[in-house]
Amino acid sequence: MQYISTRGNTAPMAFSDVLLMGLAPDGGLMLPQSYPTIDESTLDAWRKLDYTELAYEIMSLYATDIPAEDLRNIINKTYTKQAFGSDEIIPVTKLYDNISLLELSNGPTLAFKDVAMQFLGNAFEYVLKQKGERLTIIGATSGDTGSAAEYALRGKDNIEVFMMSPNGKMSAFQRAQMYSLDDANIHNIAVDGMFDDCQDIVKSLQEDAEFKAKYSLGTVNSINWGRILAQIVYYFKGYFAATTDNSQKISFCVPSGNFGNICAGHIAREMGLPIDRLIVATNENDVLNEFFNTGKYTPRKSNETYVTSSPSMDISKASNFERFVFLLLDKNSEQVAQLFGDVRVGKGFDLSDKLATVTSQFGFAAGKSTHQDRINTIKQVYEQTGRLIDPHTADGVKVAMDLQHEGEQILVAETALPAKFEDTIIEAVGDITLPRPEHTIGLEDKPQRVVVVDNDAKAVAALIEQYVTAR
Ligand SMILES: *Cc1c(COP(=O)(O)O)cnc(C)c1O
Repeated sequence: MQYISTRGNTAPMAFSDVLLMGLAPDGGLMLPQSYPTIDESTLDAWRKLDYTELAYEIMSLYATDIPAEDLRNIINKTYTKQAFGSDEIIPVTKLYDNISLLELSNGPTLAFKDVAMQFLGNAFEYVLKQKGERLTIIGATSGDTGSAAEYALRGKDNIEVFMMSPNGKMSAFQRAQMYSLDDANIHNIAVDGMFDDCQDIVKSLQEDAEFKAKYSLGTVNSINWGRILAQIVYYFKGYFAATTDNSQKISFCVPSGNFGNICAGHIAREMGLPIDRLIVATNENDVLNEFFNTGKYTPRKSNETYVTSSPSMDISKASNFERFVFLLLDKNSEQVAQLFGDVRVGKGFDLSDKLATVTSQFGFAAGKSTHQDRINTIKQVYEQTGRLIDPHTADGVKVAMDLQHEGEQILVAETALPAKFEDTIIEAVGDITLPRPEHTIGLEDKPQRVVVVDNDAKAVAALIEQYVTAR
């Protein structure tokens, strides 16, 4: 399988080359030339597989330049009971009659990003060793990506990690998770700005071809194709767990920010998984909600981005969205380049003439949740089911309940565990002691390592230079 860029000006590449890339050289996002489709009998066969076997079947369709045995090893090393807490890896748990949770958050950092990142850490180490190369990972995080990346890459050979986060905008637990790591290859940078500023710094360093080549810059942000690939697997897993045969259709509702998670669901649906609707749930930062209801995409500036109680969704420019728009526009890369060129200079675009296709052909729907909705939903679910859900998952449950059709079965992606967002949970249900996985007890008391810098790509570049040269 060959990979191409959404902007059409990058020569086709193999999986292991794409794996180490951030943005394509032409500024676009890499994706397969076409998505493979799965027939009925394959779907029947996959239903019987356990998580690692299923992951192998799906990933081997895409990672065609990695020998079968090696790919199996990477997958088996990644998806273990030890790392994810159960042999199921991604359990499905019933909340109400027709609403269940797709439990994505039982990995090392208690958020769904571990599912992809743990795979990426092992895949990176493998590919770098094969190629005899080193890599400098730069990333931007509003919380969960950064910790998931750092836990996946800590101590890995030939990899240096620089992770930017918005100074003071993450929860105490998230800060402690990241800043308490003492591995020599992990560097935390707190930027005086918002998440989107961090993301812009990453983009601008990536676009500096000389700097990029000199330090072998790579990224683990959600634009990375390897992450999307690893996420496709759990849509299949969730579907099989929630149905008894392949004539049934279910919907997924996904708390969204960068459109990474639900992009994988969209691809699973394109591959032929019987998904009815893909419901995008946003918080007050509702750029995607607006697009999927009006066809107008209007990214906001960082000073127009709200700080909310579901902070990992405080995103106003959905970096993976371009992968979907590429398909929506029948792979017209010139038009994609033009639209996202406009986005780059602060404009939006209007695809309202395509809205019917977005809904009917691609199955998308969207809804929005606010702080009060989130609080009410956490409280309601706790009182009715005894289960605590985190604020992001609450946005998903709220939107699922709002939009649910009669008889529609919806899996809501549980994108983090409540232990990460103690303040909001306590606001919702009163002063209780939150359950915490053993390995996170006492985390906030550990010493922290972080460098604070101005919102300035040059200052970050200087830091990278200094550290990489010193190693
Ligand atoms: C990253 C994240 C999201 C948003 O996922 P996207 O792939 O960016 O849409 C939602 N919830 C949590 C807890 C997250 O960490």
